[in-house]
Amino acid sequence: MQCPRCRHEDTKVLETRLGKGGQSIRRRRECLACEHRFSTVEEILRDGLVVVKRDGTREEFDIAKIAAGIRKATDKRPVEVERINLLISEVVEGLQARFEDEIPSSAIGEEIMTRLQSVDQIAYVRFASVYREFRDIDELAKAIDQLRKGGKVK
Ligand SMILES: [Zn+2]
Repeated sequence: MQCPRCRHEDTKVLETRLGKGGQSIRRRRECLACEHRFSTVEEILRDGLVVVKRDGTREEFDIAKIAAGIRKATDKRPVEVERINLLISEVVEGLQARFEDEIPSSAIGEEIMTRLQSVDQIAYVRFASVYREFRDIDELAKAIDQLRKGGKVK
């Protein structure tokens, strides 16, 4: 990202937030050369991006659904709103980096879980218990056990 004042190429990101309606990412940046601060807005919705569900049906990629899932999992948890917004944009960007036009619905859940795990473990377990549809308390206990050992839940 080029500094609009001095044309220097390196900037650092001070703040990232999801824009209105969740269709853009707003970043506050600072130039590493002249310390000039400026904002950028990046569109994160691409035309025609679709989600392929498990049964093969397709639906429009909807950031609001991803945001709702993450907000529900982090409800009443000590996670700052800014961190949640950043997480949402990270999930969307991560998915867009990996897929061209079609995103398997399973990849969305996995992307959210992977990132949620490092933010808040209770939120992670909540999300995983809905997403993975744990059949009984033993499966849930197993997932929590793996979390305790610091490993990635399989
Ligand atoms: Zn500059």
